[in-house]
Amino acid sequence: MRCVRGKGTKPELAVRALVHRLGYRYRLHDRQLPGKPDLVFPSRRKVILVHGCFWHQHSAACKNITPKSNTEFWSAKLRRNVVRDAENLKALLREGWKVLTVWECQVEKRNLTERVRRFLDA
Ligand SMILES: [Zn+2]
Repeated sequence: MRCVRGKGTKPELAVRALVHRLGYRYRLHDRQLPGKPDLVFPSRRKVILVHGCFWHQHSAACKNITPKSNTEFWSAKLRRNVVRDAENLKALLREGWKVLTVWECQVEKRNLTERVRRFLDA
């Protein structure tokens, strides 16, 4: 089972390295903001969220989202995560932040650099 949770997980580190390579400065896990977003770009008023596909339940098309055991326990827990993610996202948008969500399964994709750059420069 793929469980990506907590801070400094692998996909997050990969995105951080990418953003750093591009030369953008960011803050990590700003506690003042809803959901403590992974990467915060205060002067641009933008945040990047790096979501583990299982933990944050990426779309139905993603292969990583189904728990392999203990299904009932997980579905309740994961549903709560999804609700909380939606609330955090809404709160961020309400406060005028622009949000890019990068899913774990997208981290290795070649177009990620372009996506990130386009988002931050827009
Ligand atoms: Zn995914």
